[in-house]
Amino acid sequence: MAIQNNRLTKEQYEANFADIHPPFENKTAAQVEASRCLFCYDAPCTKSCPTHIDVPKFIKQIVTDNVKGSAHTIFTSNIMGAGCSKVCPVEKLCEGSCVFNLLDEPPIPIAKLQRYSTEKAMENNWQLFERKNSVGKKVAVVGAGPAGLSCAHVLSREGIDVTIYEKESKGGGLMTYGIAAYKVTPQFCEDEVNYITSIGGIEIKYNHELGKDITLSQLKKEFDAVYLGIGVGVARQLDIPGEKLEGVVDAIKFIYNIRANGYPSVPVGDKVAVIGMGMTAIDAATQAKRLGAKQVTMVYRRTEKEKPCTQHELDIAMLDGCEVIWLAAPQKIKGSGGKVKQLVCSVMKLGDPDASGRRSPVDTGETFTLDVDMVIKAAGQVPFEKLIKKSRLDNKNGKIVINENCATSIKGVFAGGDAVNGGKEVVDAVQAGKDGAKAILKYLAP
Ligand SMILES: Cc1cc2nc3c(=O)[nH]c(=O)nc-3n(C[C@H](O)[C@H](O)[C@H](O)COP(=O)(O)OP(=O)(O)OC[C@H]3O[C@@H](n4cnc5c(N)ncnc54)[C@H](O)[C@@H]3O)c2cc1C
Ligand code: SF4
Repeated sequence: MAIQNNRLTKEQYEANFADIHPPFENKTAAQVEASRCLFCYDAPCTKSCPTHIDVPKFIKQIVTDNVKGSAHTIFTSNIMGAGCSKVCPVEKLCEGSCVFNLLDEPPIPIAKLQRYSTEKAMENNWQLFERKNSVGKKVAVVGAGPAGLSCAHVLSREGIDVTIYEKESKGGGLMTYGIAAYKVTPQFCEDEVNYITSIGGIEIKYNHELGKDITLSQLKKEFDAVYLGIGVGVARQLDIPGEKLEGVVDAIKFIYNIRANGYPSVPVGDKVAVIGMGMTAIDAATQAKRLGAKQVTMVYRRTEKEKPCTQHELDIAMLDGCEVIWLAAPQKIKGSGGKVKQLVCSVMKLGDPDASGRRSPVDTGETFTLDVDMVIKAAGQVPFEKLIKKSRLDNKNGKIVINENCATSIKGVFAGGDAVNGGKEVVDAVQAGKDGAKAILKYLAP
């Protein structure tokens, strides 16, 4: 057993990481699907979309071949509508609430139709929004992720001059550095950032880190308001013996390497264990398999019924050949010569419901051992607690606390997205950015 990179040929990497949800082949195919829509009054799909896109309207516009109008409808509610069409877990959002599900028929492929219009808009660089004349106000946004970009776009539309401070060398946040490579490519993410900022009035200062290159008090002095969209940080520690052994990796860093450095450069084991069952765990497991790992086993301390990922996501992992062991919690990692050799797990059973309402896992005292050479930790992410506390922001275990106006405990400083909610979906962060911008506009109003 060994951890090694460059396991596959260029063609194999390309095939393994090809677009998981390909677009419509042509206009007719899109219009045929769009024509199935019943254009429900009080549409449940719109209600289930966190950004409340007027889904029946944009679908009707596709039927009548008004693709530009359709893209405008989508982007008005969600400026990352193109990215969301590729990454939204639609089975639990818009498509999951489509009335066709009740009729035992396939739901309208809302995301695929959304992709049809928004990709055309991006490809043709349609400028669908006009920035108002500058009103002479400046806002600093920290983080060029979905929350920050969405906030910046709304503010810019209203004539505010926005400067985004981003610690990485590219924008997009976890869209660029976190989401599975078979959903969005780095090139698409770059194009999307360029499309959003092409409205003007938004400058992104890359390689500028809050807490290192700039401080919150500096930003407060230089700008009329500040928006924090810094997301959450690294994977949660397991706090078990053997966690420092070579071969134990953080899922976020593992995925970051795939996105930032390319498939062949990322080392992966023969036998990999992934701890967790959320979206990050699924993405780490499927991508380890697609990088050439021979065996990938996901270990989760509850049963399938309590899993945090969706059935669709689990199906992807299963189809990729990943195995799952339910009711198992990591107890210790054993090594030899400083490297991972085995993962010892406790066998769990379900007890009483915990604060999340799900039945909690209880140790039975029994154990089993897996032979592995790599352990990927994906048991949740932890916020940037040190930075938040140093900036003297009210917080709950590192998550920034805001009021109903998106305002933090420091006057003129607003926040949203994963940094506040601890980690949801891209579409939630986009909505948080819109809410933040609305609150800032109210705060800056004469
Ligand atoms: C592995 C993984 C897979 C996911 N898959 C999906 C998916 O398939 N679909 C989906 O909808 N959601 C998915 N998500 C969740 C989604 O990516 C996030 O909810 C969303 O990106 C949050 O947006 P945000 O803007 O709040 O934060 P982020 O996307 O994290 O953006 C924050 C930005 O702030 C920057 N930043 C951080 N600290 C500083 C600092 N001190 N100074 C300057 N800049 C800073 C970061 O570099 C980053 O660019 C996934 C998340 C992970 C971890
Ligand atoms: S943004 Fe996402 S949830 Fe909303 S309509 Fe589009 S695909 Fe569905």
